Amino acid sequence: MISFLDLKEVNSSFRKELVDACARVIDSGWYIGGGELANFEKEFAAWCGARHCIGVANGLDALILTLRAWKLLGRLREGDEVIVPANTYIASVLAITENRLVPVLVEPEEGTFNLGAAAIEGAITERTRAILPVHLYGRLADMPGIMAVAEKYNLLVLEDSAQSHGASLDGRRAGTWGDAAGFSFYPGKNLGALGDAGAVTTSDDQLAEVLRALRNYGSHEKYKNLYQGVNSRLDEIQAAMLSVKLRHMDAHTERRREIARLYQQGIRNQAIELPLWERDEQHVFHLYVVRCKQRSALQTHLAQQGISTLIHYPIPPHKQQAYSGYANLSLPLTERIHEEVLSLPIGPTMTDDEARIVIDCCNSFMAD
Ligand SMILES: *Cc1c(COP(=O)(O)O)cnc(C)c1O
Repeated sequence: MISFLDLKEVNSSFRKELVDACARVIDSGWYIGGGELANFEKEFAAWCGARHCIGVANGLDALILTLRAWKLLGRLREGDEVIVPANTYIASVLAITENRLVPVLVEPEEGTFNLGAAAIEGAITERTRAILPVHLYGRLADMPGIMAVAEKYNLLVLEDSAQSHGASLDGRRAGTWGDAAGFSFYPGKNLGALGDAGAVTTSDDQLAEVLRALRNYGSHEKYKNLYQGVNSRLDEIQAAMLSVKLRHMDAHTERRREIARLYQQGIRNQAIELPLWERDEQHVFHLYVVRCKQRSALQTHLAQQGISTLIHYPIPPHKQQAYSGYANLSLPLTERIHEEVLSLPIGPTMTDDEARIVIDCCNSFMAD
């Protein structure tokens, strides 16, 4: 039996450090907005290479609150258009509509699953004010190209970095390319808490200040409210867990890449298309996603040998009931991707032997 991602094993591998950190918080008597959060924010900002990190309750809030802060700062207005990849996880789109902004769903590049500069440029109208690129599956989008378009048309860029902790290009990590970035620390993400957590990174002092207030009822100072904020805080226990896990992140990323390398070299089947991976640093393999025209047969074949796989994602946002107004959009590439993608097991505790079993099973798959 090969599980998709064994979270229990991942967290057990530093059980003592986690338990010690937990005990430290319990014994401190301080559970919200204290030293653990300040410490993690400082460490994570430095690890990414950003000036600020603002911890929030989850990844969706990181995106929602950043767009909201830009509205408060007068940089965005209700009805403005935000370009977003059509094949993203629903949260990227929810963050836009939650702010009464208009998502413009754009087809990704076929090879990378990510937004490309040319498609973005083709979707720009006089109402476009922002781009929300998603570094899907852990692969950094073409940020040099995207930032050039943003500069040319004076657009804000919010990176959805929920799947791409540490992915980089030319030494610059996810979370430092755009004007701001939203991270998720959902337990199954590459850097995962033991519950919900998220953060925004930015090097914009003014944005950071507004976000620090917004997450805390809109208040900078107790009982004084500048904005109509929310309660979206990253609590001390989760911040302490994240500080422990951050210390192991680079090793975990390297292990994910080793598994990906085995897959890239070992899987040889005409019916299975492997992900593009040109530069090591660019991909952190949150997911290892292959394409197969006979996906359901491949998934069944793997399951028969005890190998768990998942589909990220089975239904694109514009085909969701929640967005029934978008159902008539023509996004053929996005729809094809959703019909063909399959995520193979990958994780920091997976062994070479397990990877070999997956490889053999992929190679013995016979398409009709
Ligand atoms: C997980 C995820 C989110 C949302 O993060 P949560 O912490 O679950 O709210 C947003 N965008 C993408 C691409 C994600 O994968």
